[in-house]
Amino acid sequence: MKPPPLRNDCFAMPPGVDWTPVDDALAALRSGLATVVGVTDCPVSEAGGRILAEEVAARRAHPPFANSAVDGYGFAHASIPADGVVNLPLAEGRAAAGDPHSGRVPASHAIRILTGARIPEGVDTIVLEEDTTTDGTRISFRTGIRAGANTRPAGEDVGKGARMLGRGRRLRPQDLALLAACGVDAVPVFERLRVAVMSTGDEIAEVGSESGAPGAIFDANRPMLCDLLRRWGFRVVDLGHVPDDRDRIRETLDAGATGADAIFSSGGASAGDEDHVSAILEGEGALSTWRVAIKPGRPLAMALWRDVPVFGLPGNPVAAFVCALIFARPALGVLAGGKWEEPAAYEVPAGFTKRKKPGRREYLRARIDSSGRAVPFGSEGSGRISGLSWSEGLVELEDGALDLAEGDPVRFLPYSGFGI
Ligand code: AMP
Ligand code: MG
Repeated sequence: MKPPPLRNDCFAMPPGVDWTPVDDALAALRSGLATVVGVTDCPVSEAGGRILAEEVAARRAHPPFANSAVDGYGFAHASIPADGVVNLPLAEGRAAAGDPHSGRVPASHAIRILTGARIPEGVDTIVLEEDTTTDGTRISFRTGIRAGANTRPAGEDVGKGARMLGRGRRLRPQDLALLAACGVDAVPVFERLRVAVMSTGDEIAEVGSESGAPGAIFDANRPMLCDLLRRWGFRVVDLGHVPDDRDRIRETLDAGATGADAIFSSGGASAGDEDHVSAILEGEGALSTWRVAIKPGRPLAMALWRDVPVFGLPGNPVAAFVCALIFARPALGVLAGGKWEEPAAYEVPAGFTKRKKPGRREYLRARIDSSGRAVPFGSEGSGRISGLSWSEGLVELEDGALDLAEGDPVRFLPYSGFGI
């Protein structure tokens, strides 16, 4: 018997197999998915991270009335000379935020006015306190001030009825400020997407459990994936850990399809003897994408199980993480009512050299060094979870062949751009 030639690259494509390029797999996902969750009303104070189900318009203008941008003195611009020094008697009273001046300020008079105060009738311009002198009955300042200076006209920021935020927007803290300022106290949002998470593998044990010693591998994927999902604003349905047993995997997928809108599994997604997840999904679950040309993460099974999307992630934690970021995140965003979100990417100089063959996209765990260059983790070994923890983002290497020199531009995808 003649053994097959040794392959020094364990991710090389088997001859004759067509691998789906990452972009094709993403395009298929993007075109095949739609929102699966209902709509509910949510108070604005609790709406951070939720996804708007409808466009929201301003109930009132912002600011709702003309007010002062500074502490100073208000007057009618038409009543001051074009040059020289201005000298105006002070009118009775003052205007403060929440304590408006009710009367009209007579022409050629000034009134004390504080930041945020409604601008009284007879006033259209405000001079900064620091630019004036006063004896308590008059103020004086150098002219040259522009008409309307230091005022905030009503609606200068947002007009009443203006469209503010669109359907599909994931609300951020600053959006809540905008909504509240414009009188919106509750918004229609999509129900939180429920994502079920299960780990598979006979060798896998829950960390801390007695069964963990000594031959077991602690389940690193479930804590990681559950936290990812929570950070993305989803509700986690923890399905626990399942041994490599088809009936148990089938039952657990059923439980996921009943109690969740999408399922994450990890492990058993390849084509080996114990790769039951991919086997079940292929046999019974409308497996759509499997051989995606990506490293790390080659065994990635994307399928439907009882009409519920399943992301059959690789067991290797590094690969599971990368596939979750690249494929599951934008897909889950669409299921949850959001937009398909591309990760933020920056072109930075490479702080390393790299040669790669054509045929698959590669992601390196990386950081940006103090001179702004991307540096990868010391080992590309996909079992190295320490590098995952060390890294602050991914360097994305294109599908084609590459002979990268130091200083060449590379794409860096910071984890912050993935919402983590
Ligand atoms: P598999 O995809 O099931 O062939 O697993 C690939 C590698 O990842 C194996 O070395 C597994 O032991 C490991 N692995 C699978 N699931 C997990 C998990 N939940 N946590 C940590 N390692 C895992
Ligand atoms: Mg396994």
